[in-house]
Amino acid sequence: MSRRDELAGNLDAVRVRIEAACAAAGRDPGEVGLVVVTKYFPPSDVRLLADLGVRDVGENKHQEAQAKAADCADLSLVWHFIGGLQSNKAAAVAAYADVVESVDRPKLVSGLNRGAGERDAVLDCLVQVSLDPPGASGRSGADPSDVPGLADAIAAAEHLRLAGVMAVAPLGEPARPAFERLAQVAERLRADHPEAATVSAGMSGDLEEAIACGATRLRIGSSVLGPRPSIQ
Ligand SMILES: *Cc1c(COP(=O)(O)O)cnc(C)c1O
Repeated sequence: MSRRDELAGNLDAVRVRIEAACAAAGRDPGEVGLVVVTKYFPPSDVRLLADLGVRDVGENKHQEAQAKAADCADLSLVWHFIGGLQSNKAAAVAAYADVVESVDRPKLVSGLNRGAGERDAVLDCLVQVSLDPPGASGRSGADPSDVPGLADAIAAAEHLRLAGVMAVAPLGEPARPAFERLAQVAERLRADHPEAATVSAGMSGDLEEAIACGATRLRIGSSVLGPRPSIQ
């Protein structure tokens, strides 16, 4: 089977899962966007995906993302940066990303704003929310109590647009209660910022739970591209 056929079959299978989960939740599949996470996979796969109708792709490492976005610049894709971000790299990420889903601290805001301004673009930003228990080690994302302040800082930046929230389900805990907490954080955010309606949650292993809890965007890697090399 060609790589194109493999990706096409995997994409179809993911779309079937999304439709089933939406049917079970009484939701319209049209409200659930799909970002295909292409990290660790070559630009040739991004090209095949674009040819198969994928418009949104996700990357989590700056250097890899920058190179791939340059390589695929002719495809007019929407690049989502979904990884941990160093503040000294924020402006550089804003130079190619169309959406940064992993804004987890106020320190990133000025660099992102500067990078977007230099490109004369408006950069969509999501606040990454930690769903880990308070004090857990290795948590990424803002504490829910810090979300309103961070959201205000993004909304006030000239070249940034506050688009909503993003989260990854914590390890070692069922995804559903975590995504329910995220839905509450998202609802509170919309009270202050009605335009910030995106809820990015759900990966290959938990897209059904995310859809049940109101996710409007899924980030799917391995179910479309296959297993990643194990060294991450
Ligand atoms: C890798 C990654 C994904 C995709 O994960 P899969 O389990 O391969 O679908 C989604 N979100 C983030 C933040 C990631 O780093």
